[in-house]
Amino acid sequence: MITQDARALLDTLFERMLDANERSLGYPAAKDFDYSALERFLRFPINNVGDPFADATYRVETRECEREVVAFFAELFRAPHDDWWGYVTNGGTEGNLYGLYLARELMPSGMVYYSEQTHYSVAKNLHFLGMRHIMIRSQASGEIDYEDLRETLKIHRDVPPIIFANIGTTMTEARDDIAKIAQIMDDLAIRQRYIHSDAALSGAYASFLEPRPAFDFADGADSVSVSGHKFLGAPIPCGVVIARKHNVQRIARAVDYIGSLDTTISGSRNGFSPLMLWYRLRELGISGIRERLARSLACAAYLVEGLRAIGIDAWRNPSAITVVLPRVSDAIRAKWQLATAGTISHVLVLPNVTCEQLDAFIADIAAERAAQGV
Ligand SMILES: *Cc1c(COP(=O)(O)O)cnc(C)c1O
Repeated sequence: MITQDARALLDTLFERMLDANERSLGYPAAKDFDYSALERFLRFPINNVGDPFADATYRVETRECEREVVAFFAELFRAPHDDWWGYVTNGGTEGNLYGLYLARELMPSGMVYYSEQTHYSVAKNLHFLGMRHIMIRSQASGEIDYEDLRETLKIHRDVPPIIFANIGTTMTEARDDIAKIAQIMDDLAIRQRYIHSDAALSGAYASFLEPRPAFDFADGADSVSVSGHKFLGAPIPCGVVIARKHNVQRIARAVDYIGSLDTTISGSRNGFSPLMLWYRLRELGISGIRERLARSLACAAYLVEGLRAIGIDAWRNPSAITVVLPRVSDAIRAKWQLATAGTISHVLVLPNVTCEQLDAFIADIAAERAAQGV
């Protein structure tokens, strides 16, 4: 039985989270969700062990929902008909690891190219996989420097390239153009190649932006990873990875013990996340996603204007929901939980962020500047 002591601790923790959740603008986690309809499923030891598309012996699972979620993203990412596969991951990092793993199995001697602005988890993934890699310069916006990429590819023409593209960099939400990257490789007559799209944040809405960023299968990607807890929102980190089926089949392995195919990274797999994503997608539909995106874009524009009006040099990349500003003070950083890197800080204007909240944030900065006599 849980003690009085432990109960008090939970109460304190809950109050603290309520408060922190109110004033969090710096990290990509949407908060406008309600999964209470799924609470009754918490009593089950759900486990989607094995491949979502193969039968398994263990039946306390949500594979049906998982397949629907994967199919939704395969279509959204314009994956080729009948040649896609995927699964619900524990987040963007796992999807990126999966894409790189697949690329390595297909091209063991391949060289990974990624830009300076790539997420910090990628270096670790490359280390796990023991893959050769080269860092490419980024432009000021955060987008990859295509000329540096072209020149570097030229030097290493004897090694098949594996491109790790950013579809929304962590700090500035810059999107590498996969069509442009594919064109560079065409120009250099590089046929054997692999492109992975790290669409952790932007993947959930990039298909609805105008102009549509070049980031998916039709643009030349071989795998795409997206986070579920960022734009869509979830209480547990999760994500989806989609890859070309014929590539995955080359690495699949049948395992008698689970009566399934061991195609995923984890053995036991979270079966609650597929249920949440399924519920979220059914609840929102395409129109709901579009509506939330429009709200975020409008509020992001509002924030840039508001900060500029008080003399702050804020900016954002085209159709980004991330607003970049000069590094804020430690007090502002702590109060609003802003991520800061080097000379910049950023605000993520997710669909739960309101203009009133942004007004309060702008007022805080204005007050600080007034106190300093700026
Ligand atoms: C958040 C993020 C990741 C990591 O995703 P997780 O879901 O946190 O594992 C990878 N790449 C980019 C660009 C991200 O923004």
